[in-house]
Amino acid sequence: MPKLSVADLDLSGRLVLTRVDFNVPMHQGVITDDSRITATLPTLRYLREHGARTVLCSHLGRPKGKIDLKYTLRPVAEHLERVLDANVGFCPETVGPLANEMASKLEPGGVMLVENLRFQAGEEANDEGFSRQLAELGDVYVNDAFGAAHRAHASTAGVTRFFTEAAAGFLMLRELDYLGRVLAAKEHPFVVILGGAKASDKLPLISHLARTADHLLIGGGMAYTFLRAKGKPIGDSLVQDDFVPAAGDLLKQAKHGQILLPTDHVLEEGTVVHEIPAHGKAMDIGPATRAAFARAIAPARIVFWNGPMGVFERPPLDAGTLAVARAVAGCPGVTVAGGGDSVAALRASGLEDKLTHVSTGGGASLEFLAGDTLPGVAALTEAPSA
Ligand code: ADP
Ligand code: MG
Repeated sequence: MPKLSVADLDLSGRLVLTRVDFNVPMHQGVITDDSRITATLPTLRYLREHGARTVLCSHLGRPKGKIDLKYTLRPVAEHLERVLDANVGFCPETVGPLANEMASKLEPGGVMLVENLRFQAGEEANDEGFSRQLAELGDVYVNDAFGAAHRAHASTAGVTRFFTEAAAGFLMLRELDYLGRVLAAKEHPFVVILGGAKASDKLPLISHLARTADHLLIGGGMAYTFLRAKGKPIGDSLVQDDFVPAAGDLLKQAKHGQILLPTDHVLEEGTVVHEIPAHGKAMDIGPATRAAFARAIAPARIVFWNGPMGVFERPPLDAGTLAVARAVAGCPGVTVAGGGDSVAALRASGLEDKLTHVSTGGGASLEFLAGDTLPGVAALTEAPSA
């Protein structure tokens, strides 16, 4: 069901409680990657231009319901001032009299950020009282935090009960649009590329997408659980023995030629092999696999990629991941990527802009594509039917 958009709201002079995902990586108080902040700028600029009085809220890290200033959002407010080129008030409390007073003093076009939602135990508990307090910070509600939409927390779910209008921001809409196209699988060939460390994390996603994908290319650490299920030698490569039967079932259910597994491998010390020797550790897909994957990707009309093909943090073991990144970037179809590490690899390779859409939501995008309903999306108001 399409959701109410921020563009459907009457915003002028109204207080807009806006949930964003500013859960950015930080090192010693410095933001090391601000892409989650810049990804919300279209919504924030729109709110300002339309005279909204914007109260932003987000979580950062895992302070577990207690105040822990290691996770304060203050540096995020300062960073946002620079990238938004506007004053951003920071409220050192999340809810309560001070936050309410600062909100009441916001001018049209003004923006403030309240302190980390997870300093309050009520956030993750989806507590009704905390939801009500949060709701005091807005006349209307906008959710642009796709990355947090798979959690039923106060700021993503509970709070919406206190608003007649709970709308999606532009980032949320964009994520739902592109990931929705992947899920709908109306365009073919539809190619899914999966990698990363663990098969267990992604089995629900694989089995869901296997119903619609023309090709499933499996690389990375998870590939060895599948190769073991096929009875291939995997030496000392990463394997999840508990998931070998499930991987075997998936292979059995797959159509002939649908699932492509690595046929050659780069071992830890850099040797390329077609058969993994005893005690050999496969750490990247080999050149023949890269070529086969690239051939499957080239004609695709829609591609979804999640998870690196090897231990990309340790060049030259990034070569397989980079080869796939180049193949996806060169594909003229709709190309969508998601996942923390794969997106980091894409960014490092400078190819991010060549994709149609790079999801900001790791866990949320995986749950969405596994066919699950995201509570933060379900809680939004439906768009009026045209
Ligand atoms: P994403 O964050 O993109 O969803 P994951 O978190 O599932 O990806 O997996 C990323 C990790 O997988 C990386 O740290 C990478 O080193 C590891 N990995 C990839 N291939 C292998 C392999 N062959 N052996 C061991 N680890 C691997
Ligand atoms: Mg990861």
